[in-house]
Amino acid sequence: MSIVASNVTKLYGPQKALDNVSFTIPAGEIVGFIGPNGAGKSTMMKIITGFFPADSGKVTVCGHPAGPSAREMRRLIGYLPENNPLYLDMYVREYLGYVADIYGLGKKSREAVDTVIERTGLYPEQGKKIGALSKGYRQRVGLAQALIHDPKVLILDEATTGLDPNQIVEIRNLISEAGREKTVMLSTHIMQEVEAICSRVIILDHGHIVADGPIDQISSLAGARLEETFRHLTGK
Ligand code: ADP
Ligand code: MG
Repeated sequence: MSIVASNVTKLYGPQKALDNVSFTIPAGEIVGFIGPNGAGKSTMMKIITGFFPADSGKVTVCGHPAGPSAREMRRLIGYLPENNPLYLDMYVREYLGYVADIYGLGKKSREAVDTVIERTGLYPEQGKKIGALSKGYRQRVGLAQALIHDPKVLILDEATTGLDPNQIVEIRNLISEAGREKTVMLSTHIMQEVEAICSRVIILDHGHIVADGPIDQISSLAGARLEETFRHLTGK
């Protein structure tokens, strides 16, 4: 299994952001993680990536327990956080080289940067400052930093939010391509995105999983479209 979450609970003060959440994601799946604002999607992703621990329950990624100090985990996971924080004053190539160093790619660093620049279509922009790029190209840089160490698992938090339709298609294509050889978990509130690139969907609401299964099966719960099931289950 790529990702196993067992009975994960997370509190922020008195508020339960995740309440006994369990799921398993086998290798090679592209899973859409959807839910209304505040459902707990980003919180779950931060626990998977070891950004902070759960209060109770357990998460493993490729058999390794999730945690901030787990170095194997870093190598296994590529993470595009919500809002894609980037160093706007750094140049694209410089930034990716810096990320490669953080992952300890050493002598392979240069080749990894070249490969990921090619793969994410950043070649024409590689000499520009990140702050000078369009939102779509910034997202490509975000994906590039997530892919640079060739991780087995990709965690993408709202990777296409705020992009225009053309940019969305381009980023989706990059995600689908990466998904041919990686396990991908992506959060989004765009149902068509899930229908376009995911084989499976997990719906989260108020920190609870309310549906989990193949897209066509979940879609048919309340009509023929995922959007109808989503509305039916979450009231949104
Ligand atoms: P989603 O990504 O699905 O929109 P989040 O995981 O960001 O949901 O948030 C889940 C709930 O936890 C929300 O009610 C949110 O307000 C709350 N929350 C998230 N992060 C924090 C934090 N750092 N401190 C306090 N509450 C938080
Ligand atoms: Mg979020």
